[in-house]
Amino acid sequence: MSAPVNLLVRAGHVLTMGPAGDLRDAAVAVAADTVAEVGPFEALRARYPAAEVVGDAHGIVIPGLVNAHTHMSEALLPGMAEDLSIWVWGTRLLLPTMPHLTPEMARVGTLFRGLELIRSGVTTVNDMFCHAHPREFSSLGVVDALEELGLRGVVCFGAEDMAWKAAPEFSVARILEEHHALAERAAASKRVGFRMGLGTILGQSDALLVASAELARARGWGIHTHLAEVREEKTEAQLRWGMSTVGRAEAAGVLAAGCVAGHGVWVSRAEMDLLASTGTAILYNPTANMILASGVCPLGELASRGVPLALGTDGMASNDSQNMIEVLKIGALLQKVHRQDPEAANARQMLEMATLGGARALGLGALTGSLEPGKRADLVRLDGNSFGAAIVHDPYQQIVYGAGPESVSDVWVDGRQLLRSGAFLGHQPASLVPRVRELAGELARSGRIKDFSCLAH
Ligand SMILES: [Zn+2]
Repeated sequence: MSAPVNLLVRAGHVLTMGPAGDLRDAAVAVAADTVAEVGPFEALRARYPAAEVVGDAHGIVIPGLVNAHTHMSEALLPGMAEDLSIWVWGTRLLLPTMPHLTPEMARVGTLFRGLELIRSGVTTVNDMFCHAHPREFSSLGVVDALEELGLRGVVCFGAEDMAWKAAPEFSVARILEEHHALAERAAASKRVGFRMGLGTILGQSDALLVASAELARARGWGIHTHLAEVREEKTEAQLRWGMSTVGRAEAAGVLAAGCVAGHGVWVSRAEMDLLASTGTAILYNPTANMILASGVCPLGELASRGVPLALGTDGMASNDSQNMIEVLKIGALLQKVHRQDPEAANARQMLEMATLGGARALGLGALTGSLEPGKRADLVRLDGNSFGAAIVHDPYQQIVYGAGPESVSDVWVDGRQLLRSGAFLGHQPASLVPRVRELAGELARSGRIKDFSCLAH
């Protein structure tokens, strides 16, 4: 017997992102961890008189947002190196810190940034933890933190070995061992799934790339990687293999394994067709692409070919925040100004990418991403008394261009409330800050980041 309806989440606009479409003065009826019904508020109120009601006839309710690409390994690295190109940024900021990232840094960093995600309406996060700790499987700390927070997630170890390939502790066998350990930790969790992680195609030795793709295929694991993010990647790949990284990924069996790939900025038309035919999802990270001046993802061309699309913040080192609502806005604006065409992207498209698009890309479309009976109760309420949701003509446009984290009032994952009237119900940011500062300082010192003082000079 199914659980009784215990909660009605009401708003002036309920955007289901599913078959029920957009509803006025409506509610989502929640039974324990599941969406039981979506419909007019008065009818649901009459049917379930004992249920708690959260919300009123104003504001907006949406499915929880899916942040389809980030790096909790960068949780402690905000606010540096804005004037480095991505090629230099990787070698001068990320590589020196990677061997010093501990499981404790992973756990505490994820707790802190996870709260920032919740505050901006995220209920599912797809993480790639990139580290090179020689003795510990640091990526496992992310699963522990997501569990503590109550967030839904997909984790991977963004493995690379080219920078450390002379060191025995970065043998292919040891790297594969961490994938197995992370998969096991995720399998034991309630809401965290696993993918095989390839940091970048160029960052992997051929031996690791082939072994990773084979293991993913054998285990039925999807893959999470970066692809065609930066112009230099094309030249480097041509010199190394005589083909692009997209071509190399295809040849190694990466695309056939069910792949989601960050960026897809530097892709030819033939490569876009290949992404479409293999069902490879492109995870658009406009804020990071702008900070690192990487280029502009050809969103319209990818969409017209049927390439699955999702939206991400990317990591703290190339975004400086995990504010997903800001990404919705920047994602549309970048396309409009780049194409000099106000119709190049729109608010509805951004919200679709950040909800059902992201969920489907991650293989979670049956579980989350839209408000439909039977799906998990992952939902977000934007309060009608906030600046961002007080006046609503077009709710899509209002959320994408007008709202911010301060509009996000309530967040539920699996029917469990994580944010209530703007207050966190579990961990509090202020109580995490002292430890976060301490670990961030330790990481910068260990990676000798201070030596750069200002990294660019
Ligand atoms: Zn990334």
